[in-house]
Amino acid sequence: MVLAGPTAVGKGTVAAYVREHHPEIWLSVSATTRRPRPGEVHGEHYFFVDDDEFARLEHEGELLESAVVHGRASYGTPRAPVLRALAQGRPAMLEIDLQGARQVRASLPDAYFVFLAPPSWEELVHRLVGRGTETPQEREARLATARTELAAADEFDATIVNDDVARAAEELVSLMVDPHPAKDS
Ligand code: 5GP
Repeated sequence: MVLAGPTAVGKGTVAAYVREHHPEIWLSVSATTRRPRPGEVHGEHYFFVDDDEFARLEHEGELLESAVVHGRASYGTPRAPVLRALAQGRPAMLEIDLQGARQVRASLPDAYFVFLAPPSWEELVHRLVGRGTETPQEREARLATARTELAAADEFDATIVNDDVARAAEELVSLMVDPHPAKDS
C-alpha cells in the first residue's frame, strides 16, 4: 500500500500511529538527505544520508523511487526491504510524496494507492501554519505544491479524509486487509 497526499495533511502522523498500534504492518524506512528533527532516530524514522550516499543509492538502483521534495531534500524508498516484505507476504506500507507514488505505480502496478486528504483547504493551510517548522517562503512553496497535489486524488484507488488521526489510520489498516469492502446499498 502506498500512502500519499499533500504536504501537511498528516501522512507522517498517520504512519506513526500505524507504526505504534499495528506492528503487524511493515513500514518502509526512507532514505533522505534532510537533517534529523529532534527525536527522529536513524533507521527507524529515516536513514539520514549525505548527498554522495544518496547519489550512490540512486546510481546503483537501490531505490524503488526517489524525489526531491519541496525543492529542499532528496527522499527515496530502499528497494530491497520492500521486495523482501512482499516476498514474505507481509502487509507493507510506503508513506511517500506524490512524485514517488507515481514512480511506484510504474514499477509495482499491483500496489494499492491511498490518497490522504485534508478535511478542507482551510484546514490544510491552518495545519501548515500551525506546525511552524517552515519559513514563510518555504510555506508558500509547500502551499503551491499542495494545491496541485490535491488535484491528483483522482489518480488514487481510494481517498481517506484525515479528520482524526486514529480514525484515518484505522480506515487505512482496514483497507490493507480488505481493499474492496462490500458497499451497503
Ligand atoms: P518530512 O521531511 O516532513 O518527513 O517529509 C517530507 C515529505 O517527504 C512528505 O511529503 C513525505 O511523504 C515525503 N517522503 C518521505 N519519504 C519519502 C520517500 O521515500 N520518497 C518520496 N518520494 N517521498 C518521501
